This record gives sequence, structure tokens and C-alpha cells, in this order.
Amino acid sequence: MYRVGYGCDLHRFTEGTSLRLGGVTIPFTNALLGHSDADVLLHAIADALLGAAGLGDIGELFPDDAEENRGRDSAEILSLCNEAVENEGWQVSNLDCVVCAERPKLGALKQTMRDRIAAILGIKPDQVNVKAKTGEKVGPVGRLEAIEARAVVLLEPLEE
Ligand code: MG
Repeated sequence: MYRVGYGCDLHRFTEGTSLRLGGVTIPFTNALLGHSDADVLLHAIADALLGAAGLGDIGELFPDDAEENRGRDSAEILSLCNEAVENEGWQVSNLDCVVCAERPKLGALKQTMRDRIAAILGIKPDQVNVKAKTGEKVGPVGRLEAIEARAVVLLEPLEE
């Protein structure tokens, strides 16, 4: 028995000096706009987890008008989603994700994000794959207006 889930997210650029992607702080010429820390990749992964377990979506569990979620660390959000999934009797078998960003260049950071995501979820880095794509200079990603992320996760029954 397996369960599959899919998540996607997009955050716009705003003024700032760094952004958070995959739980990693990356110095950059802009930040990402969001109610929490705007970690678009962790949000996509959280939605994939919740989706696979039939638990709705991140907006239901962590409303973007709730004061306690202002500036919130998305690693904490993802960890809580993972707990909710485990409470339903599931654990992550593997997850695969894509970050679509024209800038910053993410090639050198993929392994760091992979390690960080695995640590947040309490799994091994080889159960996590992170891919990076550009927007080919078109669309909101290519015009440097936003970063998008997509994730797919497979859940297996929890081993006690
Ligand atoms: Mg989001």
C-alpha cells in the first residue's frame, strides 16, 4: 500500500537581501514575499505530504492571515505536517521536487537543500531529490518576478 501526493507553490520577489529555499538561507539581491518565511520549496513539499495522506492543504492548517504564522519558519511547518502524516500511519518513502528559478543559480545548493529537507523529515538524503530549472527568460519565473516549486511524495505504511 502506497499513497502519492503532489504539491506546488509560487512566491513573488520583493526587496531584501536573502531568501529561504528548502530550509536553506541563500544570500540574494531580493527576498521572496510571503506571510511565513516564504520558503516556496518547503511549502510545495508540505502540500505534497498532506495531499498524499488526505489531510487537505497547507493553507487550511497554517492560514496566511493567522498572526502565529507571520514570519514562521517553514521548516517548522513542514515538520508539523510530517507529524500529522505519521499520526495517520504513514511515512515518507521518497520525495522528488523541482525548483523553478531564473536566479539565484541553484546548482551548487541542491545537495545542501537535499540534506536539509531530509533532516527536517527525519529521513535519509537519498530519499530526497532536488532538481533546479530556469524559466528560459519567459513567464513569471523567467522574468525574475517569482520562484516556483513542485513536489511529489510517496508514502508507505509507518514502521513502528
Ligand atoms: Mg507558499
